[in-house]
Amino acid sequence: MERAREIASVIIFILLLGLPAPGASEETDPWRNERLRMVREQMEDRGIRDPLTLQAMRSVPRHLFVDPSRRDAAYLDTPLPIGFGQTISQPYMVAYMTEIILPRPGLKILEIGTGSGYQAAILAACGAEVYSIEIIPPLAERAASLLRKLDYEVTSKTGDGFFGWPEAAPFDAILVTAAAEFIPTPLTEQLKDGGTMVIPVGTPFYVQTLMLVEKREGRLRTRSLMPVRFVPLRRAE
Ligand code: SAH
Repeated sequence: MERAREIASVIIFILLLGLPAPGASEETDPWRNERLRMVREQMEDRGIRDPLTLQAMRSVPRHLFVDPSRRDAAYLDTPLPIGFGQTISQPYMVAYMTEIILPRPGLKILEIGTGSGYQAAILAACGAEVYSIEIIPPLAERAASLLRKLDYEVTSKTGDGFFGWPEAAPFDAILVTAAAEFIPTPLTEQLKDGGTMVIPVGTPFYVQTLMLVEKREGRLRTRSLMPVRFVPLRRAE
């Protein structure tokens, strides 16, 4: 009996050896703890509740989307420069805008302003079908290659997002990550009935208002959400 118990514990020990050691994922991703802390302190403590949004924020490696020289700041509560005078948004803003449009598998979402590709990765991590447009070619190319390398399914192109993506329209949701002086008509036209758009509207280089636009039975309803600061939505020359 004693012998049987010994053999059993040896077998269990051998089986346990085959399991990944606790903390193994931290070895492969030393940033994981910082990311989990970001989600606790910057998202959950500030009222972000959507489980898919939180899960995406926990899983997407934000440090790979920032400039390598700023990697240590990747999970801090701040936007960061990504070159060409542009920025990757503050993590909370990304989570907040994501939670508003509730990306889900089966939903088609258009993002204007790919930038680093981080917001697009978050939307894709929620399972949505993501289209993203960036006006600065080198940023568009860098984001597309990173998203491909990390296996996020995002269809992207270089161009002026003001005109949306007519060939892929209509969209369940549109997320604009650069500040517009007014809501572009092509974008509201490409929104499905029942669809939602979030867009910062206001004076460039100043404080803007994050607006929620909902299309219901062909009519647009707009609501102000909060004051924000985004880089301006540029127009192609
Ligand atoms: N969503 C990005 C944030 C990028 S900042 C991220 O997660 O990193 C806004 C981006 O919008 C910039 O990269 C800027 O070049 C881009 N942009 C500005 N005007 C645009 C336009 N008309 N069409 C498409 N992209 C535009």
